[in-house]
Amino acid sequence: PLPGSLILKVQDAVKQFGGLKAVSDVSFDVKAGEIVGLIGPNGAGKSTMFNLVTGVNPATRGNVTLLGRDATRLPARTIHRLGVARTFQHVRLFPELSLLENAMMGGYARGKAGIVASLLHLERREEAALQGAALKQLERVGLRDRAFDQAGNLALGQQRLLEIARALTADPAFLLLDEPAAGLRYGEKAELSALLRRLRDEGVTVLIVEHDMDLVMNLVDRLVVMNGGQELAQGNPQQVRDNPAVREAYLGV
Ligand code: ADP
Ligand code: MG
Repeated sequence: PLPGSLILKVQDAVKQFGGLKAVSDVSFDVKAGEIVGLIGPNGAGKSTMFNLVTGVNPATRGNVTLLGRDATRLPARTIHRLGVARTFQHVRLFPELSLLENAMMGGYARGKAGIVASLLHLERREEAALQGAALKQLERVGLRDRAFDQAGNLALGQQRLLEIARALTADPAFLLLDEPAAGLRYGEKAELSALLRRLRDEGVTVLIVEHDMDLVMNLVDRLVVMNGGQELAQGNPQQVRDNPAVREAYLGV
C-alpha cells in the first residue's frame, strides 16, 4: 500500500451483546505507515473492536473497510489472507509445540488450505520456505536461539513476543496487537517499541491496544480513545494528553 493510503476505515461501528453495546457508533481510520494506538479503560470495547475488524466477531452495524475492500462481513481467514494479522490479549499458543512450529502456524493460515490440511499435505519445498520465514521472524523478536524449545516453557512476556513472530510470519501489511506489553519487563518493553518502529519503517502499519501509557505515548503517531464503547477522543499524543475529557475519564486526573 502507498504511504498515506487507507489501510483501515471503521464507519459507525456498533457491536451489541444482548442489551450491552460494547462498541457504540465508533469511526476512525488507519493510514499506511502509521502506528495508531487504541486506548481506554478496561471494558471500553478495544478488544471487541479488534474482533470486528479482524472478522473474529463481526459488527452488528456499521462498516469496516480493509486495504480498499469491504471487510464488514468477511470471515477471519479471508481477512488474514488480505494481509491483516493480529495477536490476542490472552495469549493463544500451542504450549506443546516448539516456538518454530508455533511461528510457522502464522504462515499456514495464509495458504489455500486450512492448518490441518496444510500440516498433512504441505510440500517439502513449501515447508522449508515456511520454516525459513518463521525463523526469520523469531530472530526479529529475539527468540531465534529458542526455536526448538517448547512454547509452554517461555515466560509470559516471551510468549507475547512469539505471538508477534507468528503474526509476522504471514508477512502482513497491517498488524493489530492487543496489549503486547502486558507481562513484559522494562527492557523487553523497550525492545518491543524498537521492533514496532522498525516494522513501521519497513512498511508495516500497526494498530496497538496498550495500557502502558509511557510506551504508547512515545511510540504512536495517533491515538483513538474509547470509553464505555464510545469514541472519546482522537488525535496525536499531545492532543490526547491535553484533552480534558480523556484526563477525566481515563487518566483520572
Ligand atoms: P476492552 O478490551 O476495552 O477491555 P472488551 O472489548 O473486552 O473491552 O469488552 C467491552 C465490553 O463488552 C465489556 O463490558 C465486556 O464484558 C463485553 N463483552 C466482550 N466480549 C463479549 C462477549 N463475547 N459477550 C458478551 N459481552 C462481551
Ligand atoms: Mg481488551
